[in-house]
Amino acid sequence: MKKIAILGSTGSIGTQTIEIIRNHQELSLVAVSAGSNIELLERQIREFHPRLAAVWNAELAESLRTKIADVMPACRVVSGMEGMLEVARIPESDMLITAVVGMIGIQPTIAAIEAGKEIGLANKETLVTAGHIIMPMAKEKGVSILPVDSEHSAIFQCLNGEKPHNRIHKLLLTASGGPFRGMDREQLASVTLEMALKHPNWSMGRKITIDSASMVNKGLEVIEAKWLFDVKPSQIEVVVQPQSVIHSMVEFEDGAVMAQLGTPDMKLPIQYAIFYPRREFLPGQRLDFSVLRDITFEKPDQDTFLGLKYAYEAIETGGSMPTVLNAANELAVAAFLNREIPFLSIYEIIRECMDAHKVIASPTVEQILDTERWVYEKMSKVPTMLA
Ligand code: NDP
Ligand code: MG
Repeated sequence: MKKIAILGSTGSIGTQTIEIIRNHQELSLVAVSAGSNIELLERQIREFHPRLAAVWNAELAESLRTKIADVMPACRVVSGMEGMLEVARIPESDMLITAVVGMIGIQPTIAAIEAGKEIGLANKETLVTAGHIIMPMAKEKGVSILPVDSEHSAIFQCLNGEKPHNRIHKLLLTASGGPFRGMDREQLASVTLEMALKHPNWSMGRKITIDSASMVNKGLEVIEAKWLFDVKPSQIEVVVQPQSVIHSMVEFEDGAVMAQLGTPDMKLPIQYAIFYPRREFLPGQRLDFSVLRDITFEKPDQDTFLGLKYAYEAIETGGSMPTVLNAANELAVAAFLNREIPFLSIYEIIRECMDAHKVIASPTVEQILDTERWVYEKMSKVPTMLA
């Protein structure tokens, strides 16, 4: 029996993780957590009987406590960061799936590593901002960090069975190009929120869907790949592959390229992380090469989709710069989702913050969180950008 805790169990990755748990008797769910969706959390508690549930909002945590008191008195309801930390290190779990969105995941991820929990990592913002802390800590504690992001899972699968001396020459990170692929800046200036939320291939949470449209997501994934696979940013090439059939590739030193292919279904990388190194049956559509006509490739347009360019710049600079990129993006995406700014302002906000930042070479967690605060304070003083 493998016991799983989920941070962000009500989200896109969280609910797909739960579907996998539902389909496998040998998996159990010991802790759940949400920001505010207590209706879904209540249903998850009634179905799976976890020991612990965390709700970010304290008032909503209190309502949930009342709602479940009759049926699940054995499930403790906690709140705030302390609650997330409890979920992360709950003694009953073997593995934590980090499916919360944003760099709010840093402290719980660290707490789980300190407690020796295996990590199924979906929460890329945590590695982007604190990869230099998390990767060495996991190594020291002997904790596995198993990628859930589809590209990184693909690379991880391509590397399986390779001997350590078979060195990676290059990682080829594939990208769909998102809903605005092929557009120029003038066209991007007038795209709407509805257009940005329509991803051609994947159904995901709102924040990552906007990140995919701006290609900031691919930029964050370049940084995530650097930390997960210990390569230089110059060894990571982004390849646009609009059909999302190839989930990423590895080129070795002899020129051999390994790729992982499949239909776009996040349950595959989630399940791979949970059962690693075992493969389990996964119901769903299969690739049909008698129907599939084309797998095409393009170079990403980094001059229009500045998210990628800025991410390479941020990771080359290193230190606290990736935190600035990420925090500015989180703030800008929230504003775009609230219809407060136009799409292109996402890039302007990131640029403005990166230009003004004085880099801290190897920031501590406290300095990372201070840098995040600095970004929010800085942007609150620019009313032209944030209405
Ligand atoms: P969603 O927005 O669908 O879900 C986010 C989860 O985090 C929800 O459970 C939400 O709770 C919870 N949450 C949000 N804010 C807070 C907060 N302040 N405190 C505590 N919990 C909070 O996101 P996704 O599932 O799409 O993405 C999760 C992570 O996985 C992201 O880092 C994303 O980049 C990454 N990822 C996602 C993929 C996908 O296919 N969705 C693919 C690859 C990576 P509530 O429901 O109450 O709001
Ligand atoms: Mg991805």
